[in-house]
Amino acid sequence: MPPVLACLGVLLAGPGRVPATEPLAAARELVVLDPGHGGANLGAPGRNRLFEKQITLQVAERLARLLRAHGYRVLLTRQRDQYLTLRERVRRSNAQPAAAFISLHANASPDHSQRGVETFVLDPQVAEVEARRAARRAGGPVAALLADLHAAHQLQESIRLARAIQDSLVSLRGAVDRGVRQADHDVLAGVQAPAVLVEMGFIDHVVEGPLLEEPAVQDQIAQALLEGIQRFLQEGGPVPAVSGSERAPRRRGLNMARADH
Ligand SMILES: [Zn+2]
Repeated sequence: MPPVLACLGVLLAGPGRVPATEPLAAARELVVLDPGHGGANLGAPGRNRLFEKQITLQVAERLARLLRAHGYRVLLTRQRDQYLTLRERVRRSNAQPAAAFISLHANASPDHSQRGVETFVLDPQVAEVEARRAARRAGGPVAALLADLHAAHQLQESIRLARAIQDSLVSLRGAVDRGVRQADHDVLAGVQAPAVLVEMGFIDHVVEGPLLEEPAVQDQIAQALLEGIQRFLQEGGPVPAVSGSERAPRRRGLNMARADH
């Protein structure tokens, strides 16, 4: 969905109940939250009793409450312990024009030594392939050009969203900053809205893992995510560069080896 059409959608949606302190432009935008894993897809095992699929849903529910309290509309790709294919997550996220798509995950490392927060956007090469695929579906050179422009704009906006969320998580929580990175996470391919995948912390780390299960810490994470999303939606502006050193290797050895992302 090009941003002009998304804006039109906001206008056509008409007046709603909006807190007086929130700018109207941001008030009725739709934010899609994608709690990673679910059902038989457990995600990474936690340090104590929970699996990744439970932590991602718990944080998503907290964040959804916060977003709604601030006047945003929220769509959760799953609202319960349910298995969803990546294709179904993408389909649900594209059902309505959305301002942002955030897939929530918790990390794990082979020797359980890693900690910190990282936020991913789609690898530009994968984004390009997706754009061409969309253009083939639409047909014609104008459609191809529009698809290319949309893909480039969507990726720039995804990087801006990723940076806002990463900065907020690091500054509000004092988490180790593993940076904004690019990878071929399949759940981000095909999403129309600016899309990021947030690894909120390492579920298997001796200190960080148990913290991720604590309600008070989940509230902090949700608050940091809210502030990052708000900053992204309220401020336009230049796109921060993703430096070469921040570019992640293809992560098949680590996250991609897990059931799916
Ligand atoms: Zn995950």
